[in-house]
Amino acid sequence: MSKSEDILLLWDIDGTLLSAKGAGPKAFDWATIDHFGYEIPVASIDWLGATDYSIAYAMLEKAGKTATRQEAQELIDCYLSYLPEMLDATNARAIEGTQELLEHFHRHDAVHQALLTGNVRRGADIKLGYIGVDHYFRFGAFADHSDQRNDLSRHALDLAREHLHPEWSPERIYVIGDTPKDIECGKVIGAHTIAVATGHHSVEQLQEHDPSALFKTFSDPSVLIDYLGL
Ligand SMILES: [Mg+2]
Repeated sequence: MSKSEDILLLWDIDGTLLSAKGAGPKAFDWATIDHFGYEIPVASIDWLGATDYSIAYAMLEKAGKTATRQEAQELIDCYLSYLPEMLDATNARAIEGTQELLEHFHRHDAVHQALLTGNVRRGADIKLGYIGVDHYFRFGAFADHSDQRNDLSRHALDLAREHLHPEWSPERIYVIGDTPKDIECGKVIGAHTIAVATGHHSVEQLQEHDPSALFKTFSDPSVLIDYLGL
């Protein structure tokens, strides 16, 4: 059972831990060719910070198909089959400073780390395994649970209460991500929100959403360690 001063860090993946230079969207683009017989570019929908299921549903609608869970699952399975080679092709890598942060917090007794991501679990495993950081996370809220990111933060709070302490408070949670959707889903549960401009959004764009803290990068890991007082 965790101590009352412990904290939980909920990490986003794309643009926060992983720079994949479009590997995910490219894998989805290839999947649409397989699935529909023609390409529906991910770039044609609002995909930044979106969950894999909401991306799949949006593509099915664009193709004029009924967006059923089953068909979204088939499209996502196809996406996952392309993901490893796309990570290779785009030379995906961990974002500077994040491996040091994960390791630092991993060694800290008062810190727990988990995932809060729009990826499905298998996609998260592939991406984090690719950069060698998949062993740091105690649990995760993934798109398999819901296609709505705000549901995922509520789910992450439930998981914290299941895995860490039955009365785990949102005030002991820090949601770390690179998009306005990460900030919003953290606020929904009353957690602290830490935004980092290493994805597609600038510091100015993220500032408009009023996160608890905002960093340009984690290339100097001490900025986050100092902020958290760890
Ligand atoms: Mg992200």
